Amino acid sequence: MKILLASSEVVPFAKTGGLADVCGTLPRELARWGHQPVVMLPAHRTACSAGLPLDDTGIELEIPIGTKHVSGRILQGQLPSSSVPVYLIQQPEYFDRSGIYGDHQGDYADNCERFVFFCRAVLEAIRVLDLQVELIHANDWPTGLIPAYLRIEYAGRAGYEQIASLFTIHNLAYQGTFWHWDMLLTGLDWKYFNWRQMEFHGQLNFLKTGLVFADAINTVSPQYAQEIQTPPLGCHLEDLLRHRHETLSGIINGVDYSVWNPATDLQIAARYDETTFGEGKAACKAELQKELGLSVAAEIPLLGIVGRLVDQKGLDLILPTMRKMAPTGKVQWAVLGSGSQELEEELRQLAAEFPRQIAACIGFSDQLAHRIEAGADLFVMPSRYEPCGLNQLYSLKYGTVPLVRQTGGLADTVTDTTPETLADKTATGFSFVPYSSDALLETLNRACDLFHNDPSAWQQIVRTGMRQDWSWSRSAQQYAALYEVTVASRRAEAVEL
Ligand code: ADP
Repeated sequence: MKILLASSEVVPFAKTGGLADVCGTLPRELARWGHQPVVMLPAHRTACSAGLPLDDTGIELEIPIGTKHVSGRILQGQLPSSSVPVYLIQQPEYFDRSGIYGDHQGDYADNCERFVFFCRAVLEAIRVLDLQVELIHANDWPTGLIPAYLRIEYAGRAGYEQIASLFTIHNLAYQGTFWHWDMLLTGLDWKYFNWRQMEFHGQLNFLKTGLVFADAINTVSPQYAQEIQTPPLGCHLEDLLRHRHETLSGIINGVDYSVWNPATDLQIAARYDETTFGEGKAACKAELQKELGLSVAAEIPLLGIVGRLVDQKGLDLILPTMRKMAPTGKVQWAVLGSGSQELEEELRQLAAEFPRQIAACIGFSDQLAHRIEAGADLFVMPSRYEPCGLNQLYSLKYGTVPLVRQTGGLADTVTDTTPETLADKTATGFSFVPYSSDALLETLNRACDLFHNDPSAWQQIVRTGMRQDWSWSRSAQQYAALYEVTVASRRAEAVEL
């Protein structure tokens, strides 16, 4: 099947989070299964300076934005280790900027205009590149207008009638909302600016538009697909999502094991697998403790955290728990992240107060993320909500026991340790339900007790996790099946019309 995947982020071209991992890996896997994916993203500055070969196709685009026409150009690259074409939509005024969505001052003020341009450019590129795609797979709010343009502006245009659309929600909380006058930039009729379609509490909402106009919708875990149909995780779109529940499904993201595998990872101190993790992890832990200035001590559980430092990730549970535990010297923390300045500052202060127990690395470092995954004993993710989460999946592979809040993809992928799950050898981590620092602390104590008192049970949990297969090949087959159904129903609808 010919699929066009559109996203604002695609590894290794541009990344702020898990969205990029999905959009860079799923197409490669689809190609391995005999499909013909192509990928499109804006030619962000980071994408053009990532050191990846890019050719100028010489093909220009003229895109209507409100009352003006803005020109762009199409660059072509490839997903590494694949033959999947990647088309980058070049428009220097919009995309040659330091950030993808904004800079230290906040979101770019013209984000609506930038992504109207991108959405329209994707549809035009299909024609000028003669791509003959059967389905457009749009991802998150920056691509939310694509299904609408397809159904409205491109309805009845030769080559477009049978193109189906799938819209994937990677995070419902980011909706791309703009003031109502920005509707003029879209070029779409005001009649679509109503509460059933593009309007949301008086604003233009990109994500809602995608949910309304796409032929099918999915999200990145079955549990999150359920959770978003009710408040609060429905983020005020729960009624719409319930209305569309028949076309709403959940597919867990996969892991790229060519990048995240302790047996082949050259960024970590020692390589190991499910039979050699004892020695391997001990070496990685000691190196990490040394690197971060923590006490080098095998017997102290080392807790890892990597991620965006935002409210979603449960930092308001983690910080008080850190403060409470630090004077006891019972655990160590290796934290890598960036995000809210307030949270960054609080972490820095904690690390300064307890330098042998808490290391706070503020910033983005892929290498250090690998070393934390390999060197930590436990990986802590007490998220308020988590559409899928990738770090707990990396942790399972690296023998780093995930300790998570039971929500979204975390609930779908981590099996709590209980006498029953230990007995039937299904335990892979620790989890809790109430969103409270008491529940986090209690679960941490439960994990530390097992770490100290029952090494063989601990090793069993580690081994069970390491043996699991969260590779893309399973998820890609599920996506392929969803594409098939979506294309078939689109065709049936086109015939009826
Ligand atoms: P989200 O998409 O909500 O940010 P995920 O767990 O799905 O969370 O994916 C986050 C991805 O970004 C993972 O690959 C993680 O390793 C990476 N990541 C996040 N913050 C950092 C950081 N500061 N340094 C390195 N990698 C990071």
